[in-house]
Amino acid sequence: MTDRIQAVRGMNDLLPDEIDIWQHVESVLREIGWQYGYQEIRTPMLEKTALFKQSIGDQTDIVEKEMYTFTDGGKESLSLRPEATASTVRACIQHGIVHNQQQRIWYMGPMFRRERPQKGRYRQFHQFGIEAFGWAGPDIDTEVIRVGERIWKNLNVEGITLQINTLGSNKSRQAYRIALQNFLKDHLGQLDDDSIRRLENNPLRILDSKIPETQEILVNAPHILEYLEPSEKSHFDGLCESLEDSAIGYTINSKLVRGLDYYTGTVFEWDTDQLGAQSAVCAGGRYDSLVEHRGGKPTPAIGFAMGMERLIELVANQGNNENRQRNVIYLIDVTESANASSRIIAEQLRDSGHRVISHCGGGKLKSQLKRADQSAAVIALIMGQSESLTEHRANVVQVKYLRDNIDQQEIPIDDLVAWCNANIL
Ligand code: ATP
Ligand code: MG
Repeated sequence: MTDRIQAVRGMNDLLPDEIDIWQHVESVLREIGWQYGYQEIRTPMLEKTALFKQSIGDQTDIVEKEMYTFTDGGKESLSLRPEATASTVRACIQHGIVHNQQQRIWYMGPMFRRERPQKGRYRQFHQFGIEAFGWAGPDIDTEVIRVGERIWKNLNVEGITLQINTLGSNKSRQAYRIALQNFLKDHLGQLDDDSIRRLENNPLRILDSKIPETQEILVNAPHILEYLEPSEKSHFDGLCESLEDSAIGYTINSKLVRGLDYYTGTVFEWDTDQLGAQSAVCAGGRYDSLVEHRGGKPTPAIGFAMGMERLIELVANQGNNENRQRNVIYLIDVTESANASSRIIAEQLRDSGHRVISHCGGGKLKSQLKRADQSAAVIALIMGQSESLTEHRANVVQVKYLRDNIDQQEIPIDDLVAWCNANIL
């Protein structure tokens, strides 16, 4: 006997029982994308490794430790995508769709990171994200944030809070970076190893260190807000103002930096206190130089990525996963000719939008009813039987409620579709 092969650690199967809530959330996300005028993009799950190295950054956790990378046919290094902004930008440049154009785009699908699997953190996980290309002002920042707010609203998820910050332009960030480095060098002896390693190449990442001693030192560190150029300051003020106008609550967290190098200007994160350590549900920001760095024309851009497993956990916990599926009908047929006319009826019901499980495999009425009971159906339609369910009758159907305490009814076959339309949809 060979061992049974299990799934790869940190990569989940979504079983039929769990799929309703996924489909519900996916359809709400798609609908919201559509409502705000965003269009879907689907890019490959594999890309050249260089794309992620150059976009996300060589020194980031994602690129340093978390990518699934292999050499294809002994030649080219490829990686499973750890996120989708790099691929979206690549596709938009390659097909010329952000060249002198504005674009609102969304995507949804699996991402791959070799992290330590735990609740809310997986090696294959899913993101829904939006990207807006071609707008430089704070109005689009507000829109992108508002899409997040709309998602919580339409999914009835409560208790999610917004933090915002700005990372300035490359120029002002450079000045800030030096100031931060100088400050931290004075505290070199107290810094943890990871932070010391980052000091030269990526000092801003030290700001979101999880080490308490490092955080203590950072209390007195210089603030990025003090290093902004006037135009950057007014962009950030404009964002704050329009969030206030939109009644979207936020806090400014000057230590909020993102784990990807391409961010510039506005950054934000939506957090919940209901998922333990994995508190970030959605994160995003501006990446005004990425399109140019990747070989396109300079194009301002902003987007976010949302962790769907975390979002779905919230939707499930808050009890808002009402079954939006149509009521299920289980169709039983015990006529002599078994199934000829019931197949026609089933199709007529489906023509009207009903969800019908046709009994397959024959059997006595009792065993068919047992199957109906085990199914998701709320109602069984029994063809070919009288009210007492003992004698055969061809021109009527018995309606048996499977979950509710409602008397059985007999309906002429010719009225069945109309009856179901009125009583079941
Ligand atoms: P975290 O701080 O939780 O590691 P991150 O900063 O790495 O998040 P991003 O790269 O900004 O996350 O991705 C956006 C969102 O995708 C996160 O806010 C989170 O909801 C989700 N996410 C990221 N990594 C994972 C993962 N390994 N498993 C499940 N969801 C994830
Ligand atoms: Mg991470």
